[in-house]
Amino acid sequence: MTNSGNLSKNNPRYARIAIPAPLYQVFDYRIPSAMLDQTLIPGIRIQVPFGRQERIGILLEQVETPNYDPRKIKTIKRCLDQTPIFDASMLQLLNWASSYYQYPIGEVTHAALPSLLRKGHEAKIKLEKMWRLSELGNSLQFSILNKAPKQLALFHYLLKNSAGLTKSQLATFDENWSYSIRALIKKLIVEECSYDPHSCIDEVGINEGDIHEDKNEHKAECDKNSTTKLSPALKLNPEQSVAFAKIMKKLNCFTTFLLFGDTGSGKTEVYLQTINALIKQNKQVLILVPEIGLTPQLIDRFKSRFGNTLTVNHSKLNDSERLTAWVLANSNKVKVILGTRSAVFMPCPNLGAIIIDEEHDLSFKQQDGFRYSARDVAIRRAQLLNIPIILGSATPSLESMQNCINQKFELLRMTKRAGQAQKPKIHLIDIRAIKLNQGLSDTLITEIKNTIAQNKQVLLFLNRRGFAPTLLCHDCGWTAQCLRCDARLTYHAKHSLLRCHHCGSEQKLIKQCLQCNSQDLHHYGQGTEQIETALKQLLPDANISRIDRDTTRRKGSLDKALAAIHSGESQILIGTQMLAKGHHFPNVALVGVIDSDQGLHGTDFRASERLSQLILQVAGRAGRAETPGQVLIQTHHPHHPLMQLIVKQDYQQIADNLLAERKETLFPPFSYLAILRAEANDADAALNYLNDVANLATNQAQVSLLGPMPAPMERRAGRYRAQLIINANQRKQIHEWAQANLPLISQSKLVRRVRWSLDIDPQEVL
Ligand code: ADP
Ligand code: ZN
Ligand code: ZN
Repeated sequence: MTNSGNLSKNNPRYARIAIPAPLYQVFDYRIPSAMLDQTLIPGIRIQVPFGRQERIGILLEQVETPNYDPRKIKTIKRCLDQTPIFDASMLQLLNWASSYYQYPIGEVTHAALPSLLRKGHEAKIKLEKMWRLSELGNSLQFSILNKAPKQLALFHYLLKNSAGLTKSQLATFDENWSYSIRALIKKLIVEECSYDPHSCIDEVGINEGDIHEDKNEHKAECDKNSTTKLSPALKLNPEQSVAFAKIMKKLNCFTTFLLFGDTGSGKTEVYLQTINALIKQNKQVLILVPEIGLTPQLIDRFKSRFGNTLTVNHSKLNDSERLTAWVLANSNKVKVILGTRSAVFMPCPNLGAIIIDEEHDLSFKQQDGFRYSARDVAIRRAQLLNIPIILGSATPSLESMQNCINQKFELLRMTKRAGQAQKPKIHLIDIRAIKLNQGLSDTLITEIKNTIAQNKQVLLFLNRRGFAPTLLCHDCGWTAQCLRCDARLTYHAKHSLLRCHHCGSEQKLIKQCLQCNSQDLHHYGQGTEQIETALKQLLPDANISRIDRDTTRRKGSLDKALAAIHSGESQILIGTQMLAKGHHFPNVALVGVIDSDQGLHGTDFRASERLSQLILQVAGRAGRAETPGQVLIQTHHPHHPLMQLIVKQDYQQIADNLLAERKETLFPPFSYLAILRAEANDADAALNYLNDVANLATNQAQVSLLGPMPAPMERRAGRYRAQLIINANQRKQIHEWAQANLPLISQSKLVRRVRWSLDIDPQEVL
């Protein structure tokens, strides 16, 4: 209901509010008479008493009759906003997400805001004043300042910082900067601008018919400024042109495109030109990339194309930077909003399209709390706004492949490498019965040597950090286990530690078997740390960089390592999947996959899908520019059908085969899943709770329940875990079951002893 005037002043009016609390309900409050005249638009923030505290919630609607006894209802404290923080379509999206993922609306709205807004901060930022060279200043012969050395120095400094400088930046350069600046402004060499120098785009865009001549000039000036700085679009190749043309046809309606383009086929260029087309219509574009995909290099690529109409949202931003990004996007001041998962909730009043790069990536699914899939929420958002969405990948998820077959998605296929690059050649190295040198075969070592001898780079991939995954007693067979998890401890040589990769606990390296006291302890298997050590011995002169969570813990260390790769300083790169995805290293000629067998025996029904995606993504790092690439995969299973298809780089065939299997076994995308997980401190509580739910649950929706059963790793971080899988032929059934049984799930008499969560469309089933 809206705040229409047909309610007389005497009618009690109530506000229905979403409040962050782990309760599956909304909360009604009395609107104080002083506020009855105010327009209270849904989507504004409201402060209310809540228990003994106060909380900030979101107004959802106004109602005449509250949900509970009017005499017990509390009154709103204050409104925090005049204009809504969520517009109507965003509220609709959040409501949908709340019911789709069966998560309290108050928690959902909370998750969708930057933390300063959650805490009640004003939805405003101060645009900091800046100074930059004017058009005249830029074209100046600086000799005319020869008589004013201070102004000349400042002039040079501004020339180097073309985007402009703030007060504090200028003050660190010259403490008397204000005199010089004033003089330069008088000479029309310097001009004032605010934080967002492209705000002029906005000014012109508002009312096209109304543009005055001087504004036109202003725009022309702006365009000139931006085109001189920004890098131009590439000429699309035939495959890119076809894809681009198909997107252009649907710019004004909801269509989900699957841009299935092999690694290096130029997907990013298609995104960039699509974005460009939308900016020209004064629209905004939201681009989501995987957690590890948001590299400085990708950001630079977007920056160099779009300059200051871009805002980037990543995990390293501090609270006020996040608020700035939010406000700029919300004010329509920036057109291109680039971010990871949570950016799917960025406000974009003028959104024209959404792009999801590497749509198959696991990081789009939140794995705790509000377990949403940013990809699926984005599709819903596009549908609500009636705009196109592009999902891009060289190795799309089977769900998306199947959606193309069902014609829910429109397939755009690109098979050739863009520009001059050639596809890499993939070969298997059969390591059965071969003696390995700390995990490396002679063939691989020889090729590594050859490659760096030709001044090319080598990338070695092993998805396991540390030195060795197992420490074993040679006398009795005992292995070092984590005390809190059902898992082995990984040996880390540098700090002489044993670390659990599941709960993070660590201990000093032990020298004696805890079972038989033997000192004959050996480590088995390899991690990235060991490969690095081995190569340092084999190639003492080579410059080696290792990139994994251990080497990139410190802020800035990943950027530094990536810079060393791009500058060519690093010759051999060793890394986990942090190195596998999205990067464009033009000089990498050899990619080595050290252990491909891990994934062949995974227990998750998606294990084969994930393995082929990962290997093909890693392989795609080879030969991305003029340098032709080769990929060598060490395996104990050279004849495995999946390995054979990976060699052919035939993801389409891999997907077809896996889809056929899924159809047979009735796993997604041919069925729908949810998982009810529970964990507890004592061994039986979680299973008992799930048993209770399974036994008492109503099942009119006729879903099938699998379990309850202990989780594959039953104990983790000291807690016992169990799960109940809900499987159905239709999405609707899952929701009906969840809806009907949520009261039971959240209020079962055994619930106090467990921590539970319901995961809709789980990505990791195991
Ligand atoms: P993808 O995103 O599919 O992995 P990219 O867009 O990163 O591929 O393109 C791979 C490389 O090919 C990049 O260096 C890019 O600059 C280049 N490239 C892309 N499209 C073209 C084109 N039309 N002409 C020339 N080079 C191109
Ligand atoms: Zn022993
Ligand atoms: Zn552990």
